[in-house]
Amino acid sequence: MKGSILLHACCAPCSTAFVEKLSSIGEEPYLYFFNPNIHPYMEFNSRLESFRAFMSASGHDGEVDPGYGLTSFIGGMKDMERPGRCRYCYRTRLCSAASRAAAIGLGRFTTTLTISPYQDHGLIIEEGMKAAEENGVEFVYFDLRSEYRRSRHMAREAGYYMQKYCGCVFSEAERFDPSKGGRLK
Ligand code: SF4
Repeated sequence: MKGSILLHACCAPCSTAFVEKLSSIGEEPYLYFFNPNIHPYMEFNSRLESFRAFMSASGHDGEVDPGYGLTSFIGGMKDMERPGRCRYCYRTRLCSAASRAAAIGLGRFTTTLTISPYQDHGLIIEEGMKAAEENGVEFVYFDLRSEYRRSRHMAREAGYYMQKYCGCVFSEAERFDPSKGGRLK
């Protein structure tokens, strides 16, 4: 057994306080980085390398998927708007996490996405439950939004890469493009 629960990890900053919290309640997280939603490549690579540094420092077992999912990911959701786009995104990542949990003999999984107040928790729960049912495992929801600010602080202290937008190119445009309500700084 590689842990007590598989933890789908979206990035190093969100993993900091999440992993600490799981450990404090007696869970042993098995870390799993799978995020084909992150674009463009240099952004993906920055988050991937930062997560590798976090995993190494944390001492927890786990694995990272280094595949850059631009074509496959965009191909599946290019004609969608929110919230369908985010539902597709959660489904992609949580199905992979559930499948991986089943494959390595862990009966439960969760995700660091639920530390963020900017994510849609209702959709995450729905897609997590579906992915769990399809793979014969259990999805465990942890509402850790109260830990979000602390996770940012912990990440800055550790020198982890701090992203400025959610992940996909659409969220990048929303963050920076003034015509979409964003700002360049
Ligand atoms: S905004 Fe975030 S959650 Fe929604 S599709 Fe883009 S990367 Fe995924």
